[in-house]
Amino acid sequence: MAVFDSSNFDGHEQLVFCHDPASGLKGIIGIHSTTLGPALGGCRMWPYANEQAAVDDVLRLSRGMTYKAAVAGLDLGGGKAVIIGDSRRDKSPDLLLAMARFINTLGGRYQTAEDVGTTIADMDVMRRDTPFAHGFALPDGDHCPATAFGVFVGLRTAVRHCLGREDLAGLTVAVQGVGNVGMRLCQYLSEAGAELIVADVSAQATARAAKDFGARIVAPDAIHREPADVFAPCALGGILTDESIAELSAPVVAGAANNQLAEDRHGAVLRDRGILYAPDYVINAGGLIDVACERPNYDVDRVLAKVARIEDTLTKIFERSTAEKFPTNVIADRLAELRLRQGQPGGVTNKATTSPAPVFADF
Ligand code: NAD
Repeated sequence: MAVFDSSNFDGHEQLVFCHDPASGLKGIIGIHSTTLGPALGGCRMWPYANEQAAVDDVLRLSRGMTYKAAVAGLDLGGGKAVIIGDSRRDKSPDLLLAMARFINTLGGRYQTAEDVGTTIADMDVMRRDTPFAHGFALPDGDHCPATAFGVFVGLRTAVRHCLGREDLAGLTVAVQGVGNVGMRLCQYLSEAGAELIVADVSAQATARAAKDFGARIVAPDAIHREPADVFAPCALGGILTDESIAELSAPVVAGAANNQLAEDRHGAVLRDRGILYAPDYVINAGGLIDVACERPNYDVDRVLAKVARIEDTLTKIFERSTAEKFPTNVIADRLAELRLRQGQPGGVTNKATTSPAPVFADF
């Protein structure tokens, strides 16, 4: 198995392999960087085809969290955990508690939250054996809409930069994936007067978007071709390829999905086609900002005010991209790397998470 030789290895600080035969746990914790603070990132449960795929995923995802936190101006590092297994079949309280105990051995260097295959209820279970599990429901039992709100704010910022429009009334947005984030995004967009086109592999989800927001439903493999002002990928990663970019109709891509570019070079392909791309880890940082603000003194309005600063960050990235003629994803990476260089190197243990810092002082 390749770790140091994997193409996804990027100077990661630590990889921890976690095995508990009694519960069937096979997990990996990846800490990419604690330069800016404790490594925070969700715990994903997925039926990986093999162990190499799990290692590669944790390497890639933990690095992504370092960049996301750095650009969001948070004093957090980048980490992620993966559990090998099918969450619908293999997840149990014993397995979650075993993972929690492994997380606890790291004393806060890695802190977890819900992710694909794990839920806020799973975090409640993990908190029995570690204080380093985040993810809390609001008093009404709902999730904080931080990610969707950040995407909405970022989408509006991209529209202003690209189309010179201050509002979204009458614009058409094509939303790919109307799950947790996509559906909330549709609500924000609908309230702002946008027309909606939606696609999802779940007919139930699209039917709800049609009923609640008057959205027009199209096939999942056709939505990027629909005439629209904005394409908002809110389902899978890797959807911006040579082929799909050539077929894109919208001049703006702004959505929640992680790892939207099939390869980094697709940022340049988008730019060459005159399409403005809101870098995924910048526009979808609302959930991470929410976790960083969590406890104590949690206040939803304060969280959303911090999330709204995604507008400032994206504006700088767009302006810089235009001025320097580099793709927006390259500018975002440079911003993250600058902040990492300015950070204090060395492991940070259980450092209190703080509010977003000004990240553009020297940028
Ligand atoms: P979700 O699972 O609730 O929703 C995803 C939706 O996409 C589902 O309704 C699913 O049926 C649909 N889908 C799957 N394959 C599809 C396809 N081929 N075409 C169209 N639709 C398809 O997930 P979510 O929490 O809404 O997250 C959406 C995306 O945003 C993911 O990429 C996730 O990694 C990213 N993201 C989420 C958060 C968050 O706070 N939830 C934060 C940052 C990034």
